[in-house]
Amino acid sequence: MRLVFSGHQVNPPPLRYVGQRVAAPTYGDTNGSFRHNGTYYQDQDVLTVSFNLEILIVNGLDPATQASVMAHEEEHRRDFAEQAERLRLAIHRALRQGRDHQIDARWDWFNYDLREAANAYHRRVGQGDIIPNNEPGRPRPV
Ligand SMILES: [Zn+2]
Repeated sequence: MRLVFSGHQVNPPPLRYVGQRVAAPTYGDTNGSFRHNGTYYQDQDVLTVSFNLEILIVNGLDPATQASVMAHEEEHRRDFAEQAERLRLAIHRALRQGRDHQIDARWDWFNYDLREAANAYHRRVGQGDIIPNNEPGRPRPV
């Protein structure tokens, strides 16, 4: 089994302007949003994990607010970059040791960890919503 892991290191991510609010906020922010748009699939003996990073920001913010929203979303991107690298290494290690990659469970825990990081960040800076985050039903893979 081979791992192809890509798209996680794009920095800065493409910026996209949206309307008045961010619809379906990823981590509880409504003036901006960092999205990894990640997917994975297995085909024969190749496991492909890919990301398509983007930052959404609402139109018409004053420059100071826009800069502050960008800095906030950049923090989410940094958390993501750390967790994505951790995910890559864990899958790589499992495959090298001849174990199952357990991508379904890893993916659930990866997104859980991202929401936890976002909530911790929001609590620390007093900005952004605290989003509900239940532990995945499957055990955390080692
Ligand atoms: Zn946030």
